[in-house]
Amino acid sequence: MIKKAIIISVGDELLRGETVDTNSAFIAAELLKLNIPTTGKFTVGDDAAAIKDALFSASMKADLVILTGGLGPTPDDITKETVADYYDLALTRDEYTLKKIQLYFTRSHLPVPAGNEKQADVPKGAAIFENTVGTAPGFGLDTSGNCYVIMLPGPPSEVSAMFEKSVVPYLRGKAEGSIVIKTICCGGIGESALAELISTEISGCDKNTKVATYVKDDGVNIVITSYGAGSQEATNKMLRIRDAIFLKASYYIYGEDRTTLEEAVAKTLIEKKLKVAVAESCTGGLFTAKLVNYPGISESLIESFITYSNWSKVKRIGVDGKTIFLHGSVSEETSREMAEGIARESGADVTVSITGTAGPGGGTSQKPVGLIYIAVTAKGKTLVRKFNISGGRQKIRQRAVSKGMFFLYEQLREL
Ligand code: ATP
Ligand code: MG
Repeated sequence: MIKKAIIISVGDELLRGETVDTNSAFIAAELLKLNIPTTGKFTVGDDAAAIKDALFSASMKADLVILTGGLGPTPDDITKETVADYYDLALTRDEYTLKKIQLYFTRSHLPVPAGNEKQADVPKGAAIFENTVGTAPGFGLDTSGNCYVIMLPGPPSEVSAMFEKSVVPYLRGKAEGSIVIKTICCGGIGESALAELISTEISGCDKNTKVATYVKDDGVNIVITSYGAGSQEATNKMLRIRDAIFLKASYYIYGEDRTTLEEAVAKTLIEKKLKVAVAESCTGGLFTAKLVNYPGISESLIESFITYSNWSKVKRIGVDGKTIFLHGSVSEETSREMAEGIARESGADVTVSITGTAGPGGGTSQKPVGLIYIAVTAKGKTLVRKFNISGGRQKIRQRAVSKGMFFLYEQLREL
């Protein structure tokens, strides 16, 4: 049974700092879902002695070693040759893999480079993991020393595709028990307030379950990790905690797992057949760009104005010049008129306006940097909120967008 893993990332560019080792982070997170914790990581260059050294240490300590990188066609790609040499395994050319590699090139009317042919060489006894993205296959080896060794390519897109398609099935049944991870996505609340709200769920866990919160760009996530002898047991444990959290925090929850806030907003808009329009000042289009991340948003989004200057606020969306003169462009009154103005101009059911001071200059004691007003008009009713956001210019703009997005989400739920 596999109880722990060590990852070896291979590549000179990783040691030079040119490439950030994202593969090992990805692999560690995926292994955890299979109940295989990663207890260590090595990074080595394209160097046979260094790879063997790492392989020796890793295979002493763990029962699964995963190498990533160095399966390519060039002479500096030596991972497979080095592993085969270390375990004294012959390399033989696999005809099926060779055909696939040849096809990859002939389809593009290119000659097959000799280097690529060596990618069809397989260490004796290894399982071959097909590469659906590139040419280099990966391999799984059951070394007789109670240790599995897996070799994966370097390009992250190839690693993730191969992991899902081949490594997960290869490892299934080789690890004990199951882990289920559930993410609950929240907005409109700070991390400590949220942790306080679900404190009994956090502290009430047994040793096989864990509830944690972490902050991300558009809110706070709650992550439930539960362990069970089988996946059903782990899932049941997770669901009990999930349901308890939903009872307490449902107001702040906009989705689960990989849902983004803009996706939740966009889906609600489309589901409720609502048209939306936006007027942005300090966020300069960021809010609209987030909405446009969602592929079906054309069903709902009519238009967006970046009314950066006072002139534009008056000319484009009909803000009263007197309002700006009396209260300033960063004010409750102006943000209200921006949201109502764009509603008038566009005929949208819901509109959002954002105006504020993103800094670093331009702040006063009455209107400091980070002061943001956001208005939402929904079916003729306008609500304005004031926020004081800290951070640098970009952070303030990003956080203003997520505050606005959650504000909009709250109002949409009411409709
Ligand atoms: P190739 O056929 O492209 O040569 P390979 O299996 O030999 O594939 P490498 O040469 O090690 O892999 O790396 C190929 C690409 O993948 C490079 O762009 C490299 O920066 C990137 N890469 C390699 N290892 C990692 C890693 N651990 N994390 C993120 N990116 C990586
Ligand atoms: Mg390479």
